[in-house]
Amino acid sequence: MTTAIATQQGIGADPAGRKLAVRCRNVVKNYGSGQSVVRALRGIDLDVYEGELLMLVGPSGCGKTTLISVIAGVLDRDQGECTVFGEDFSAMNSRQRTRFRGKTIGFVFQSFNLIPTLTIAENVSVPLLLNGVDRRTALKKAKEILSIVGLGERTNDAPNRLSGGQQQRVAIARALVHDPRLIVCDEPTSALDHETGHKIVELLKGVAMSGNRSLVVVTHDNRIFDFADRIAHMDDGQVDKIVGSAKELYGPNMQSANGGGGMS
Ligand code: ADP
Ligand code: MG
Repeated sequence: MTTAIATQQGIGADPAGRKLAVRCRNVVKNYGSGQSVVRALRGIDLDVYEGELLMLVGPSGCGKTTLISVIAGVLDRDQGECTVFGEDFSAMNSRQRTRFRGKTIGFVFQSFNLIPTLTIAENVSVPLLLNGVDRRTALKKAKEILSIVGLGERTNDAPNRLSGGQQQRVAIARALVHDPRLIVCDEPTSALDHETGHKIVELLKGVAMSGNRSLVVVTHDNRIFDFADRIAHMDDGQVDKIVGSAKELYGPNMQSANGGGGMS
């Protein structure tokens, strides 16, 4: 890749001298093989810096979830390079991976992935327990973070007693509770009303700014674009543009960001 293209795509040396949290080069990921192969990632180049909130946008099926899953070490890439704070999941055995992921990364899954038989405080404490924190301390910390996301009164409820938006906030609390350096979120505001969505992204942004953490947020939600430091646009398995604001992608009214309407 030439320097000119690297600069245009927002990858390569950072003029502000920030450190890299994530570095992807020519990342390829296929699902299946032979005639039914789906080429989900077709050579992704992307850098995420420490202390920034990078939003990842693009049409449904363009590879956003696949990309953040590869970054977070949930899925293996087929080709290319990908490092998180200089470490490469593909160079680790499964034990090392679990340990590194557990310490370093918080993942908000689109489907929440809460454990139905645990209370929400227990759900949120899971990453701490996996990192060897004792149960009492883990539950205390879980309850603190649940208060921050506005669920302090619900800590002993089972997930199925909560609305979709509340479950989404539990999933976000769980991704933050162990103080990860990289937080990866798949559509974290999709089940939230405007005000709660704003609050959650404000919280996520605050977390990123304090302590030089990094956030990668997949979203269709044009109401939260202003929180992004940069926006990477994907199409058909590639990052085709990286911009500083949504206006550069969608123009002043940003209607095409989510098909013209608000979120459901
Ligand atoms: P996005 O999150 O942008 O909607 P995805 O990363 O989920 O996109 O999917 C990218 C492409 O890979 C799509 O064509 C999708 O149908 C396909 N895909 C995703 N997951 C799987 C899977 N587990 N098996 C086969 N194909 C998949
Ligand atoms: Mg997706």
